[in-house]
Amino acid sequence: MAKNIQAIRGMHDVLPDQTPLWQFLERRVAGVLAAYGYREIRMPILEQTELFKRSIGEVTDIVEKEMYTFDDRNGDSLTLRPEGTAGCVRAAMENGLLHNQTQRLWYQGPMFRHERPQKGRYRQFHQIGVETFGMPGPDVDAELILITARIWRELGIDGLELQLNTLGSADERAAYRTELVDYLQAHHERLDADSRRRLGSNPLRILDSKNPAMRELLDGAPTMHAHLGDETRRHLDFVCDTLTRAGVAFVLNPRLVRGLDYYSRTVFEWVTDRLGAQGTVCAGGRYDGLVEQLGGKPVPAVGFAMGLERLVAVLEEIDPGAGAAVADVYLVLLGDAAVTEGLVLAERLRDALPGREVVAHCGGGGMKAQFKRADRSGARYALVIGDAEVEGGTVALKSLRADEEQILVARDAIVDVLLARLAV
Ligand code: ATP
Ligand code: MG
Repeated sequence: MAKNIQAIRGMHDVLPDQTPLWQFLERRVAGVLAAYGYREIRMPILEQTELFKRSIGEVTDIVEKEMYTFDDRNGDSLTLRPEGTAGCVRAAMENGLLHNQTQRLWYQGPMFRHERPQKGRYRQFHQIGVETFGMPGPDVDAELILITARIWRELGIDGLELQLNTLGSADERAAYRTELVDYLQAHHERLDADSRRRLGSNPLRILDSKNPAMRELLDGAPTMHAHLGDETRRHLDFVCDTLTRAGVAFVLNPRLVRGLDYYSRTVFEWVTDRLGAQGTVCAGGRYDGLVEQLGGKPVPAVGFAMGLERLVAVLEEIDPGAGAAVADVYLVLLGDAAVTEGLVLAERLRDALPGREVVAHCGGGGMKAQFKRADRSGARYALVIGDAEVEGGTVALKSLRADEEQILVARDAIVDVLLARLAV
């Protein structure tokens, strides 16, 4: 017998038991973003490979070894997006959204990276991302962080730690880079293979190493601090002051560098200790150089992205029932005539009871089997129509949760009776 085809490793189905939590998350986040005046943008999942090479950078993990890249039938090299910023910038440039205006945008959807699958790390994963354009100052950096803090409150997630750092300007970073390379070079024998490789190409990224054996060496490394100019310091101070005044606690982490090449100045991450090694649930920062790097006029930009799988995992620990919906009414329908009348009645009920879940039994079966389904639906009430009710123009109302007596109600009156019962 042929083997059943399975999903691709690291790519998961979100099953109906899990979707309520996802929808809860997505709705709450969308609600917060709307409250700050952010507007949704939707980009294609496929882009020209060149876009990611030019934006994320050739010497990053993502471009070096994680992208799903293939030639399409025309021989064009395409890539499944590993993140959303590049496509969002491309779309904004291409559609003239960056000319003499500011933009506050968000998007959501699947991202693809060929990483080693483990808890909190998948090959298809989902992000909600936010990008802003045209605002050079620290005001919008602070706003973005306030948004994320509000999102956690709205979701009921506590215990996340905000880590904050600045990567300085391009010049400041270049000066720091030299000092860092000197330090790492002096300890070359203690570098792991990955870090040796990065020493020439992307040394800042070494600070981001997840290898515990490198920890001590990296803890002793020089920090950016000595290389920061006045402008950068003012920018950082403003963000820190605003967060403090708004009651958002943070930790300055001079080793926070972010994996991607295009960041400058403010970078931040929200970290949880609930998820083991994959603890970063949200990461962002300023990337003033990216638009120009992609061929546009310089446009300041700052954004963040959160990993939905990791947030769902946190929510599962805190409040697994969040967002779960149960039926309100289940129609038990016995016999052909009853089925038709039941489907029609269910339509009336949905008209009259907006926001309520009304499930009409389909698929036939006897009384016992149908009541079992009714019970499993979580509904508070069953409405039963059989031959007698068809004939009498009535419907039997039975509580599935409380010890109430079953009553027979005229079909015309059932809407009012249900409205009254469901209201308590
Ligand atoms: P990490 O250091 O965990 O690899 P990253 O720096 O590669 O993260 P970003 O590119 O900044 O991550 O993506 C933003 C967020 O998206 C991360 O903080 C994380 O929550 C989530 N994320 C990134 N890669 C994955 C993945 N492979 N599976 C699940 N979530 C992911
Ligand atoms: Mg990564």
